[in-house]
Order: sequence, then structure tokens, then C-alpha cells
Amino acid sequence: MRGRFAPTPSGRMHLGNVFAALVAWLSVRAAGGEMVLRIEDLDPRAASRERAELLMDDLRWLGLDWDEGPFWQSERGSAYDDAIERLAQAGLTYPCFCSRAELHAASAPHASDGTPVYAGTCRGLAAEEAARRASVRPPATRLRVPDADDPAGVIEFCDLAYGPQREVLARECGDFLVRRSDGVVAYQLAVVVDDALMGVTQVVRGCDLLGSCARQIYLCRLLGFEPPEYGHVPLLVAPDGRRLSKREKDLDLGALRERGVTAERVVGTLAAAAGLADAGCVATPAELVHGFSWNRLCREDIVADEALLGRLRAEKL
Ligand code: GLU
Repeated sequence: MRGRFAPTPSGRMHLGNVFAALVAWLSVRAAGGEMVLRIEDLDPRAASRERAELLMDDLRWLGLDWDEGPFWQSERGSAYDDAIERLAQAGLTYPCFCSRAELHAASAPHASDGTPVYAGTCRGLAAEEAARRASVRPPATRLRVPDADDPAGVIEFCDLAYGPQREVLARECGDFLVRRSDGVVAYQLAVVVDDALMGVTQVVRGCDLLGSCARQIYLCRLLGFEPPEYGHVPLLVAPDGRRLSKREKDLDLGALRERGVTAERVVGTLAAAAGLADAGCVATPAELVHGFSWNRLCREDIVADEALLGRLRAEKL
């Protein structure tokens, strides 16, 4: 059994990232498995080495260790190129010239991650026309998904926390990107190739990515990989229901550590809020391994309200 941390170094870790990393680590350690660290720095505009170093420092400070890595996605381009080449050789990809504005203008339904379901605009483009357009501006690369009535495009799996899931790719996402027009490999493709080549058997992450599983399982099938087991964890939200994000600077680990909050209190507070420990818990991740079970984990968003923040700050009052 092998799990992974797969953070994007776009900012300091916030409580939501900490929670997902904690559950991923507990699930692996409770099963006696290994942990891999992969830095998802594919997009040079969003990622920096310096932030990646801070991220690793935060993981160590929390007591979340790993056995292999860090692997850097920015250094793994040839593995992604090979996979895209295999899909292209099988006739499953095509160039797409649609601009972001064109994609969003179509009032199509949206996939669970907010991207519009692709209308298939460039699907049937003749080779000469595609070549003519490609000489003007570089295209993105899209993967063809089976038609809605083709059982090959119906993906079913069982999530460790959220149970049985089913998605009809053609209806809920459509043909999806494997490479952006600026040449950057799409997250969906990179994550599938990496998890497979790194021997990852269990993927644990925030439930905002539950909707990506169908695409990832489909890619696994096409590339001949065994899909990992998936477990998604609730998100941390602000009292108004918005996701905690980089905007809540006072809740990132930089700010919390500066204020003198201890790692044991961060870990214990999150574990208690998620049903994995008793109220008032102050603990290292290692102390929580024994009591960990997916059945105990709550399924609702965790509200980072004044009560929760108060528990974090308790020792400083
Ligand atoms: N890199 C992604 C993130 O930080 C996680 C990807 C994944 O776990 O599959 O949100």
C-alpha cells in the first residue's frame, strides 16, 4: 500500500491542505504503508521552489513524514510526453483551437470542477484545416471520450469516504484536455501518469477533486494502469460557506506558526473537528494512527468558525 502527498506549491499550506495531508498520512500509516511526496509544480506561473521548500518544512513540522521523494513534476516532462504520444498513436487525441472565452461563452453545463462540458467544436476538424490553424497559434490537445450511449464512457468506482460514484464522461465532462495550448501538461494526465509510475495505490485528497476521478480512471484504462483506490476528505470552509483559500492568510501555517500555535494543537483540533479524535485533542499524527478509521471521518464540510479557531489559539490566551 502506497499513498502520496501531491501539493501544488502555489502558497503556504492552509488548514484545508493540512487536513487532507493528515488524513492521507493516517490512512497510509494505519495500513503500514509507504508515503510518497510529489511536488505538483507543472505550471511555472503558479509554482516556486521556495514555496515548495516551505511546504516541505510545514509537513515536517506537523509530523507528516514521507518515505520517498520529493519528486518534481517540472522534471518529469518526458513521462507525460510519452503518455500523450501513446494516446495520440491510438487516435484518441485531437488539436483544439477554442479560446477560453469561446469555451465559456457556450452556455453548456459545467463539470464538477467548473470547466464547461466541451461541446466538441474541434472534434471533427479536417487535418488540413487543423494544420492551417496550428501555423497561426499552437493548439491545446484534447482526449476524445466515448459517446454517452457507449458503456466504455461510464465510469463507476467506490470512494472510501463518499461511497459508490458514477459518471457518464460524455455528459459530465466531455472531451478533456491533456495538454494546454501553452504546452503545459494538464493536471489530469500528469497525476495519472505519476501515480501509476510511482506505484501509488491509494489517493487521498480534498473532495473538490472527487469529480476528477472519472477522468483519471478513464485515462488509467487507456494507458493500461491499474487505478488507485480513492478516498476524498471534507473541505474546510469559512463560516459563510466559502472554501478556505489563500485569501484567508491568517489561517495559513505561516501565520499560525508565527503566532506560536503548536503542531500538536493544529493536528488535534482538525482531527477532533473531523470526528477522528475527542474534543480538545492535542496530539501528534503518530498518536492518532491507532484510532484512525475511514468510518469515523465526517462527510460534511468542516466549518472553520470562531470556536475552532479559538481551540487553535487556546494555549496562547
Ligand atoms: N496538486 C493538487 C492540489 O494541491 C492535488 C492533486 C491530487 O491530489 O490529485 O490541489
